Amino acid sequence: MKNCISNRGIAKRVVLVFVCMLMAAALFGCSGGEHGLPIEVDISAGVDLTAEPVVVTEEPTAAPTEIPTPEPTAAPTEAPTAAPTQAVNPAPTGRKVYITFDDGPCKNTPEVLDILKRYNIKATFFTIGRMVKQNPETAKRIAEEGHLLACHTMSHDLTIIYQNPEAFLKDVNAWRETVRDAVGYDAGAYFYRFPGGSPSAGGRSGRGKYVEAMHEAGYVGFDWNLAFNDAWAAGNTENLPLKEYYWKSYQETYSWYKDKDPLILIIHDTYKDSVEILPRVIEDLIAKGFEFGLVSELTDDYLM
Ligand SMILES: [Zn+2]
Repeated sequence: MKNCISNRGIAKRVVLVFVCMLMAAALFGCSGGEHGLPIEVDISAGVDLTAEPVVVTEEPTAAPTEIPTPEPTAAPTEAPTAAPTQAVNPAPTGRKVYITFDDGPCKNTPEVLDILKRYNIKATFFTIGRMVKQNPETAKRIAEEGHLLACHTMSHDLTIIYQNPEAFLKDVNAWRETVRDAVGYDAGAYFYRFPGGSPSAGGRSGRGKYVEAMHEAGYVGFDWNLAFNDAWAAGNTENLPLKEYYWKSYQETYSWYKDKDPLILIIHDTYKDSVEILPRVIEDLIAKGFEFGLVSELTDDYLM
């Protein structure tokens, strides 16, 4: 009996609770309003939560392993496309590009040499004699690491060197002696670049006598076709950040001259931004299937 009464009592309480719930529902509404729904969501979330702590604890452990991976992919941001394509396209096209650095050696040149070493490529340095005098150790390093120490005159002073071919040759000879003193032997090969480019030597019609004089002295001369335009600030009409302007110039000149042979890239390592985009450009050229040569492999002048 006691059990019966107590059971009935429980049943009564259940009914009471149920009625209360109904009343509460009527009072506060169960229309799925903003206050009703979140409770359901909370409940279902609560159910999920029992499973989710596992996920939650797994996520942090998964996340750290994911954080280091973004970092390697973050580093190639400097050369996002180049790195993968380099692996995809390792087959050389048999074509060569000649990277040349003008106006050094300067304080940035050791970094250039480090970059070239990292990629195991050789380049030509059209050096200025007075800069060699200031940085003899760097000049020596250029030669010792198998790069070509080429001539860009002693003074790079256009008002002096372009007075006449004799003045030009005199300046070139001074460069040669300076390099000999710095390097300890006659490392300067007979390859040169006119300061300002060959048209600076009396224009395209007037440069012939300079070219002739240099031929007689045994030199081969080189202008360029690919360029960062790093020595041509006026070309940056859109006022782009320098690295962007250099990269754009490189891409633009490449699109114009890509079928030209030889393909000669001029860079002034006197500009820090040029040095900073160098790896990106090298990787792009590698991805395009190029190999890297020294202008000493070429027997004919290349003038613009
Ligand atoms: Zn120059």
